[in-house]
Amino acid sequence: MPSVLTNSPQEAAWWLRAGHLVIFPTETVYGLGCDAMAESAVAKVFEAKGRPADNPLIVHLADRQQIALVARRVPSVAHQLMEAFFPGPLTIILPKADNIPDAVTGHLDTVAVRIPSLPVAQEFLRNAKGPVAAPSANLSSRPSTTTWQAAYEELEPHVGCVLCHDPATTGLESTVVDCTGPIPRLLRPGAVSLEDLYAVAPTLSAIGGHPHRSPGMRYRHYAPSAAVCIVRHPNECDSAPETAYIGITPPESGASPFDAIQICRSLEEYAHRLFAFFRRCEKRGIKRICCEEVSEEGLGRAIMDRLRRAATA
Ligand code: AMP
Ligand code: MG
Repeated sequence: MPSVLTNSPQEAAWWLRAGHLVIFPTETVYGLGCDAMAESAVAKVFEAKGRPADNPLIVHLADRQQIALVARRVPSVAHQLMEAFFPGPLTIILPKADNIPDAVTGHLDTVAVRIPSLPVAQEFLRNAKGPVAAPSANLSSRPSTTTWQAAYEELEPHVGCVLCHDPATTGLESTVVDCTGPIPRLLRPGAVSLEDLYAVAPTLSAIGGHPHRSPGMRYRHYAPSAAVCIVRHPNECDSAPETAYIGITPPESGASPFDAIQICRSLEEYAHRLFAFFRRCEKRGIKRICCEEVSEEGLGRAIMDRLRRAATA
C-alpha cells in the first residue's frame, strides 16, 4: 500500500490511531511515530528502522497533562526543567508508568518524554489523543532526516502516512537529560545547550552518556555512506577526488579541492544544514566529507557530538 502524503495533522493522526506508522515534522528532526500504547505498531517502528530492540524510543506528548499517562513520578528537578524548556527540544527521562509497553522503553524501567514546540507537531499529537512513540525518521545508524522527502525516501515501504511540512529548523536532535537519579545527568547534547540547562539545574552532571544509561549511545550513529572526517581548517584537507567540505570558515580563494561545499554563517546554520548536506553528498557519490571542528559551546557541543560519532562509524 503506497503511503498517503498530507498536510493535515488531523489526517496524519487518523492513520496513527489506525495502527500505522506516520512520518511527522518537529522543530529538531523528522520523527517516525506510532501509537505508543499499541505493541504491534511499536514493533513496526523497530522493524522499519532496523533498530536494536534495546534502544528505547522517545514518547512524544501534546501537553504536560499527558505526563501522568507515561511516568510514575516526576522528580522536582524534572518539574523545573519542564517549566523552563517544555514545549521544546528537550527530552527528559522519568520513572516509567506500568501501562507503557516494555518494547517502547527497551525494557528499561524509565521512559523518555518530550513535548515538541512546532505547532503542526502539537496539532498532530493532540489529534493522536495519546502518547506517540517516535525515534528519528531514518534507518538505524544513519543520519537523522530533516525533510519529509528524505524520510519518505528512506522508510517508504513501512509508512502509512507522511505529514508533509517545511524542513526542520534546528536540524539536530533533542537534548536528553536523565532525571531518575540523585542528580540530573546529560545523556545526549542537543538543541538545548548545556549552558541553558545549568541555569535551571546547577547540579546537572554532563559526564553522562554512559551506554547502560542511554542505550542509543552504544550504537553507530548519524553516519552517511561517505567517510566523515573532522578538520581544524578547510586547508587541512588534501585534494583527494570526491571530497566535500562543510564548515564556517571558507577555504582560501583559489582552486577549491572540493566537489561539494557548504559554508555556514553560524552554529545554527551548521546544525540546520549538516544532515541534509550528508545526504546530498551521498547522492553525488562523494567519498569523503571534511567537517570543520567548532568549539564546544552552545550548539557547538551537539554538533561536535554528532560529528565524532559519524566519524567513528
Ligand atoms: P532517537 O530515537 O534517534 O531520537 O534517539 C533517542 C535517544 O534517546 C537514544 O539515544 C535513546 O537511547 C535515548 N533514550 C530513549 N529512552 C531512554 C531511556 N528510557 N533511558 C535512557 N535513554 C533513552
Ligand atoms: Mg536517531
